[in-house]
Amino acid sequence: MSLKRDASGRLHIESPLMGESLMDKSLLATTSAQSIYRLMPDLVVVKIGGQSIIDRGREILLPILDEIIEARKTHRILITTGGGTRARHAYAIATDLGMPTGILAKLGSAISEQNALMIAILLSHHGGVKIGHDDLPKLPNYFALDGLPVTHAMPPYGLFETPPALGRIPPHRTDVGAFLLAEVMGASRCILIKDEQGLYTADPKKDPAARFIPEVEINELLALDLNDLAVERSTLEALRDAQSLKEFFIVNGRERGNVTRAINGEHIGTRIYKAK
Ligand code: ADP
Ligand code: MG
Repeated sequence: MSLKRDASGRLHIESPLMGESLMDKSLLATTSAQSIYRLMPDLVVVKIGGQSIIDRGREILLPILDEIIEARKTHRILITTGGGTRARHAYAIATDLGMPTGILAKLGSAISEQNALMIAILLSHHGGVKIGHDDLPKLPNYFALDGLPVTHAMPPYGLFETPPALGRIPPHRTDVGAFLLAEVMGASRCILIKDEQGLYTADPKKDPAARFIPEVEINELLALDLNDLAVERSTLEALRDAQSLKEFFIVNGRERGNVTRAINGEHIGTRIYKAK
């Protein structure tokens, strides 16, 4: 690579992106020419739901942790945590006080992190170690030390969270956080553990006529434009544009054995996938 001066007098380092605004669509298309490097192609990322699992307490949470303790003997598992009821309480107070979305995102992140701390402590005799987002590139080292890493699933947009099209709630919360984490690590699987069989045509807690969807292609799901979802809408957009992960699962953690089967690669619950 050599230095070049253009006609306007600007100095460049010669490369395919030299002198570009990085906005030109045809140029952007060329940047995906190389196949993507996957840091940990055998990694399984699980998200333990905040409201749906952790807030239900020991009776629901501890059997799930037992399944993960067993599964980690044969899999490399990263545990991530949702926020849940306390995050909703904080969002309600903050919206009443007129706080902007970026402040709500900071509040939600802290609660997701509290849950990560508690789960890491519960797992401390099984390698449980609470890690921060900056530690994620060290995951192979934690596994080499027989660790069972736990981190918060709230993505670190924080104060920079984009305001949503509708309302004030941060659009990127812990479902999309877990998915994006699995995507950047080049993981093999992303499993969202919640309290229903998976995705339905409507919230099964509110609509008794809601129908279960065992499997759906992401563009078809986006086209359905369901009024309510079991995951943040941004998770769907993230899968649509993902370059490494091609699917994620929503499984019911209240049914014993589901988490184990999902980690083992079975199709449990709802599979949301991207067609080739
Ligand atoms: P988490 O604890 O992982 O954050 P949430 O409570 O935010 O989970 O989301 C899961 C809940 O979403 C389910 O318990 C269900 O009541 C609700 N829900 C809303 N719409 C749907 C839908 N279309 N299909 C399934 N569940 C839905
Ligand atoms: Mg949620």
